[in-house]
Amino acid sequence: MFVLKGKTAIVTGGTRGIGFSIVKTFLDNGANVALLGSRQNSVESTLSKLSQYKDRVIGLWPDLMNPEEVKRDFEKVKNRFGSVDILANNAGLSSRTSLYDYTLEEFQKVMDLNVTAVFVCSQAAARIMKEQGGGCIICTSSMVGEYGQPSGCSYPASKFAVNGLVKSLSRELAKDHIRVNAVAPGVTRTDMLSALPKEMVDRISADIPLGRVGEPEDIANAYLFLASDAASYITGQVVKVDGGARV
Ligand code: NAD
Repeated sequence: MFVLKGKTAIVTGGTRGIGFSIVKTFLDNGANVALLGSRQNSVESTLSKLSQYKDRVIGLWPDLMNPEEVKRDFEKVKNRFGSVDILANNAGLSSRTSLYDYTLEEFQKVMDLNVTAVFVCSQAAARIMKEQGGGCIICTSSMVGEYGQPSGCSYPASKFAVNGLVKSLSRELAKDHIRVNAVAPGVTRTDMLSALPKEMVDRISADIPLGRVGEPEDIANAYLFLASDAASYITGQVVKVDGGARV
């Protein structure tokens, strides 16, 4: 369908959920992939599930908020596969805390991973992409980056910021042939959703025009399109993949 053969992707938060599905989809469509996670053991156990792709996948666990570690590991990816063509800024943390109960630490923790890490990784990847003549950056935003949500304000605030980075970086980096887009999932079946009672998931599904919650593969397919040459004239967009949901 959309071929990524010969391209190399870095996927943050690649150990489970949407990120793991992006990793699998990219591998199935020919890319080399560096999957990033927060801990060595989760990265290694994810790699063990991908043994059929073993020459095309590696795992790394840099601190995404540390520019030196990220630069070092992105250089490792370039040295291993020859280029860095695609960055998937997918790692993210959500929040449900009421404004009255937030600590500054909790607010900051969400902003650090969801925004600062996107900045750090985009900077490191763009430096490599510029030198090699181009590439693309895709971020996992969220439907709450348009609608907000009734608690956990750090999470939608962080996704509005991600959209701002996408809009701005797409304009700044176009001259270097680097496209920058986001995919904004609606409610998607990951660990987060599995924790909810079935009746609640049924109620959420009933409010979605397409009648079901998203699967990680639905989000990964949008990633695949945006990463491919079929999207070579698309930049600065936040693509909703939400079954038509409107809050
Ligand atoms: P998940 O919790 O299953 O996965 C989160 C990923 O982020 C994991 O791979 C985890 O290792 C990684 N991560 C967490 N903390 C980290 C840290 N400090 N450093 C590095 N990596 C870290 O959740 P998911 O639903 O797959 O979320 C993936 C992305 O999708 C997130 O950006 C999330 O905001 C977004 N999203 C999810 C939904 C949904 O309904 N599931 C909806 C909209 C947007």
